[in-house]
Amino acid sequence: MFASVSWFPNIGNTCFLNATLQALYSIPSFCADVMGQEALWSPKKTSLKLQSYFGELYKARQGDSSFHSKSTLLRSVKSSLAVFNEEYEGDFQQDAHEFLMLFLMGMKMQGETQQGTSYTCPTLNFEFKLQSVRTCSSCGDKVFQEEEQNNLSLDLSSCLTDSLALYFKASELECTCRQCLGPQATVSRGFLTLPRVLVLHMKRFCYDGKQLRRVNDAVCIPPVLSLASLLEEQQGVLSISQSAGELRRQRQIPAGSFCGHYLSDVIEGDGGEWVTLDDSRVTRTDEAAVLKRRQDTAYLLFYVLSGAGEGDPAPL
Ligand SMILES: [Zn+2]
Repeated sequence: MFASVSWFPNIGNTCFLNATLQALYSIPSFCADVMGQEALWSPKKTSLKLQSYFGELYKARQGDSSFHSKSTLLRSVKSSLAVFNEEYEGDFQQDAHEFLMLFLMGMKMQGETQQGTSYTCPTLNFEFKLQSVRTCSSCGDKVFQEEEQNNLSLDLSSCLTDSLALYFKASELECTCRQCLGPQATVSRGFLTLPRVLVLHMKRFCYDGKQLRRVNDAVCIPPVLSLASLLEEQQGVLSISQSAGELRRQRQIPAGSFCGHYLSDVIEGDGGEWVTLDDSRVTRTDEAAVLKRRQDTAYLLFYVLSGAGEGDPAPL
């Protein structure tokens, strides 16, 4: 069925919310983790509030009119985030990347109440570990450190592959070696584990001394992203294929406001058809058009690990 029912109403500067949620709804493994645990979030008094709203909205999005209206549920998602960030009490536009991070953090925190049960937090879909290695330039002593992440914020370059390589490029650091007291070290990072879904955030905003400015540089978006060269341990060739959403910002109101417009290009349903979801407007598109048209506006990209479907364990 064409995604005619999957639109969301704009309830007041909420394109950031709609576009980001639409991206999440197009990730089958994330939705499966939420919907497969309905017994835990369906009771009215559940502490898994965000998961409950997301699950009810999933049903409303499928066109089941016996559930709450989309507007009510969207408002509930937004107001429940005001607990973490009071800016969500107002009707101001928010940054889609910040919203995604807040939403995942909220879901994870609420999930901590389920310890000791069989609950699996859906946010695990995005989590991965990086390992950084600091090597002393004088004696070669190495210090290893692990970082947990659920997204990467990348500087712009002509291609996404280069932006990613830039993120992992070794850099020089001034620090005192624990062994020889040498003054300099090289720091390099790599993936220790891979996420099921890799979220990439393009740093399209820069502060020019007065206000935030959007940078519209074109970044080519490959349909498949290989991470093999960025893995700390050689685990063979692993690649991820693009799915899910892409968000763009069309304009910005001066004075540093985060006002703008977001929409989402997603793969909808089993047929693998791409659609553009722009609040209540749903239009068909295709992968080639998405990759080409969004080069200078793509803000959040979701890459799904090849072979990771519903019910698969997150790769470690
Ligand atoms: Zn040293």
